Amino acid sequence: MGAGLTGAAAAWELAQHGFKVRVYEQADVVGGHVRTEWLRGIPYEPHGAHIFHTHDAEVWQLVSQLSDFVPYRHRVAIRIRSHELSWPLQRAELSQLDEWAEIQQELASLPPHPDSANFETYCRSLMGETLYGLCIRNYTRKQWGRDPETLSASVAANRVELRNDGYLDLFRDPYQGWPDRGYADLVEALLEPAEIQLGQQVTHEDIADLALPGEPVVITSALDDFFSLDLGPLDWRGVRLESQFISDAKLVQPAMVVNEPDVSVPWTRTIETKWALARLHDTKGTVVMREYPGAAAKHYPVPDTAGVNRALQTAYEAKLAAYSRNPLMPAGRLATYSYINMDQAVRQGLEAARHIVGAQSNLRDKA
Ligand SMILES: Cc1cc2nc3c(=O)[nH]c(=O)nc-3n(C[C@H](O)[C@H](O)[C@H](O)COP(=O)(O)OP(=O)(O)OC[C@H]3O[C@@H](n4cnc5c(N)ncnc54)[C@H](O)[C@@H]3O)c2cc1C
Repeated sequence: MGAGLTGAAAAWELAQHGFKVRVYEQADVVGGHVRTEWLRGIPYEPHGAHIFHTHDAEVWQLVSQLSDFVPYRHRVAIRIRSHELSWPLQRAELSQLDEWAEIQQELASLPPHPDSANFETYCRSLMGETLYGLCIRNYTRKQWGRDPETLSASVAANRVELRNDGYLDLFRDPYQGWPDRGYADLVEALLEPAEIQLGQQVTHEDIADLALPGEPVVITSALDDFFSLDLGPLDWRGVRLESQFISDAKLVQPAMVVNEPDVSVPWTRTIETKWALARLHDTKGTVVMREYPGAAAKHYPVPDTAGVNRALQTAYEAKLAAYSRNPLMPAGRLATYSYINMDQAVRQGLEAARHIVGAQSNLRDKA
């Protein structure tokens, strides 16, 4: 269920082992959250910027075998009044800010390890009150629509850093790139051996009609949707993107992504996907997207400090495990209620498929 990267990778791997695979997708297109569109030859991503980065050599080998990836090292800037600084922040650039004297004092008295009580304590103890106030507090309120102290420190652990090494790329993974023909090329290649049914939403009530008893089903939808909200809805935060084509410029931003922590700016960041393809940098025309928070879409699971959302997800997982007619395997960002990158989505799809392959060969051995 689901033709995003997780479902597509599972389909690919199952087909490599001789399985006949059917994929049911509720949307009218494949790709899920990963989607590239082109306007006058310029790429943009209406669901948000996607950069492929991984240390998983097998996943990188698979995706770059199926689609031509070009080298791209991702950079992000943050706008603080008239300054465009690197993100993650670099200590050497902070002296540009009017608040440099306070910042310096605060940096000199930070604790040896960040305080992981919640998102806010983590960030304040990592960079001091002034930088936190300038760069993070309002951005986080905009992005999550809630006070930062109600978010778990785990949200910050992967996203917030203060660097002092002059390394300006966002990611440190050995394999990084962008698919030269966009992400549909990759997803379609993974799905090449499968039958695909578009426009079909599947819930637990449909399984008996779609699968024979015992047939394994990989579930990549959210489990609250799958169980028709039986135990109540899971909490998600979504974003909405507005794209603008600018015809008389080649590139308009200093980097693909510019974060906007200023509370008077209603969007959280702007994205210029064209940065990913160096071959287009001299072409006129570019697309800039503004990302607005608070859309009714399932993009980010909300890791609340109290753990309420995780407990509901665990209850849904127990319901899934108790379903006896078919083995139901949750995989991917929606079904596991977790923020995962694309490489992890592909990895989870491969592992779900391998689990099925292993279970079938055990059955054959016993017979
Ligand atoms: C704003 C944003 C930016 C991101 N940027 C990056 C990045 O730069 N780099 C990176 O590596 N990762 C990034 N990610 C993460 C990346 O989007 C995910 O890892 C990836 O999309 C997960 O794929 P998936 O198949 O698990 O989920 P999805 O892409 O959501 O696919 C699930 C599919 O299942 C379908 N479906 C759902 N319910 C049903 C149902 N009941 N019946 C049938 N079909 C159903 C959906 O329509 C969808 O097509 C980003 C995520 C967000 C939110």
